[in-house]
Amino acid sequence: MKKALFLDRDGIINVELNYLYKIEDFKFIDGIFELCTHYQSLGYLIIVVTNQSGIVRGYYSEADFEKLTSWMINEFAKEGIKITKVYHCPHHPELSGACSCRKPEPGMILEAKKEFDIDLENSILVGDKERDIEAAIAAGIKKSYLFDETGLHKTSKATKTVSKLKDIYYVDTK
Ligand SMILES: [Mg+2]
Ligand SMILES: [Zn+2]
Repeated sequence: MKKALFLDRDGIINVELNYLYKIEDFKFIDGIFELCTHYQSLGYLIIVVTNQSGIVRGYYSEADFEKLTSWMINEFAKEGIKITKVYHCPHHPELSGACSCRKPEPGMILEAKKEFDIDLENSILVGDKERDIEAAIAAGIKKSYLFDETGLHKTSKATKTVSKLKDIYYVDTK
């Protein structure tokens, strides 16, 4: 079994922008490559789990999403980082009914476990919303980190709230 570093996309890999789908609008967050390099060197697979309700809302298409995703994976590759897979939920309960993949549901994480034989108990998730953390807990992931640059987030079920991505591996290796 393999461990994985699960990453939310918007707000963790790229600066959050509502319904982002254009490459020119995609801005990597400071420290994301270092974070991935660190965990990759420890043998973690890197897997992205992202809610993309902009698809069911009709703001962008699956093809737009896939195009951006391919570009993003290639940018990571240039940094020597392998993204094992990007899972996305295109749904929204009000438009497409309830689904098991939209976070806080753990569906995407459980799918990854099945596909890559992931040891969830020893995996890590990093997200910027409480629903990311809730999905991690529901999937049985023990370590989760809430990234909150402002440091204003009051309480979280996450293992730790951090204001810089690099703080994650400092905290984690203690
Ligand atoms: Mg996010
Ligand atoms: Zn879904």
